[in-house]
Amino acid sequence: MNVEIFRSFHFEAAHYLPHFPEGHKCRRLHGHSFRLEVGVTGKPDPYSGAVMDFGEIKKRVAPVVEMLDHFLINDVGDRLGNAKHAQLLRNPTSENLALWFAHNLKTLLPGLSTVVIHETCTSKCVLKLQP
Ligand SMILES: [Zn+2]
Repeated sequence: MNVEIFRSFHFEAAHYLPHFPEGHKCRRLHGHSFRLEVGVTGKPDPYSGAVMDFGEIKKRVAPVVEMLDHFLINDVGDRLGNAKHAQLLRNPTSENLALWFAHNLKTLLPGLSTVVIHETCTSKCVLKLQP
């Protein structure tokens, strides 16, 4: 039977949402303490009893999180040019951030099944990937 395990990450970053309506507060430059949750689904190994070592998830995901931590996310997209699905970072909604993490983590994390972005303590986006 498959089990989904989650590891959480935090990063601080600034962004603005250029496609929101004129005068909307989210068009202004502002920051968040973002929380990323990464879900990996698989059958627990019969010997270890684990789907994957949580420490291994941390090792693989942390460098991707570091790409955004303490940056203006829109600028990271500009800096990357056309690499690593950078267009998603130029309009960094929670939805686009979840998609960006999914694109950049899928080869690093076989079994990646869910990406959650918490923009605030009351607002989050859940991206469910095909198993
Ligand atoms: Zn925001």
